[in-house]
Amino acid sequence: MPNLKNPSSPSDGYRGRFAPSPTGPLHAGSLVAALGSWLDARQNHGQWLLRIEDVDTPRCIPGADQEIMRQLLACGLSWDEEPIWQSEHQERYKRALDRLNELKVLYTCTCSRQTIASALEAQGVITPRNQEIIYPGTCRPHEIIPYKGGSELLDEVALRLALPPNLTIEFEDLALGKQRQDLNRDVGDFVLRRRDDLFTYQLAVVVDDAEQKITHIVRGEDLLSNTARQIHLQRVLGYATPSYFHLPLVLDEHGEKLSKQTLATAIHTETEQQALNSLRNAARHLGLSDLPDGNRVSIAEWLLAATQAWNRRITFS
Ligand code: GLU
Ligand code: ZN
Repeated sequence: MPNLKNPSSPSDGYRGRFAPSPTGPLHAGSLVAALGSWLDARQNHGQWLLRIEDVDTPRCIPGADQEIMRQLLACGLSWDEEPIWQSEHQERYKRALDRLNELKVLYTCTCSRQTIASALEAQGVITPRNQEIIYPGTCRPHEIIPYKGGSELLDEVALRLALPPNLTIEFEDLALGKQRQDLNRDVGDFVLRRRDDLFTYQLAVVVDDAEQKITHIVRGEDLLSNTARQIHLQRVLGYATPSYFHLPLVLDEHGEKLSKQTLATAIHTETEQQALNSLRNAARHLGLSDLPDGNRVSIAEWLLAATQAWNRRITFS
């Protein structure tokens, strides 16, 4: 899908971001997302923000945020504006939940994983492993009455977003073209606040992309399946929808996506040469060719060439 915007025109307020979860250092896959989003922002003369997505505190590793920032800077991927940490913005997410509560689209759910699995089994629904469980609506009331006490909530209770019937979300991905998802069929009423009192990724990402006025989201294709529900939540909350550009995933030799779970190894950025090699691997993955090689080139020169190559790529591909 070509980018129809004239690439040489100055930004009309382009704001992109890189939003890593600090669950470990950057690996080859996350560097692709960092580089792709950085190049797209720079090529469009936009801002590139860094947001540390540390809402899922049990999965966060102390110090990983600092390590990620160190790796980014070693690769010359500098950000504009102060980075934000989601853990420091709990009141934003609370406010969004209060709003949804007023709109009568939130309900409390007391199901455990086991209750959901049994309810699905009773309906004859088998969820393949690795596939998301579609919530069967067990706790959904006939008529939603806002829960009392604003954001003061009971323990061990999750909050789910009630989806309207017939909710097919369509959007144009700048890399992958037209996308559509039937949210009731593929997702079901999804959780915005977990039983253990944590706000979910879906809620936090939507609130922060709006708070930070992000106009372009460039991220890995592993997140593509979250996009429709994020667009739905944006609409319910009255936020603008940014444009989306999902980048091809880096797979390991078994064809599995690289992640901390599959013990993807951290990229090396200790020396300038190592950082440049890591960048070159990421660029190759993004389909960028004819970039300066050899070890005489500086990272800054290389990034400039990559920004120009990116420009060519999305204009002519
Ligand atoms: N924090 C998410 C991750 O590291 C990315 C969120 C996003 O880019 O929307 O997988
Ligand atoms: Zn339930």
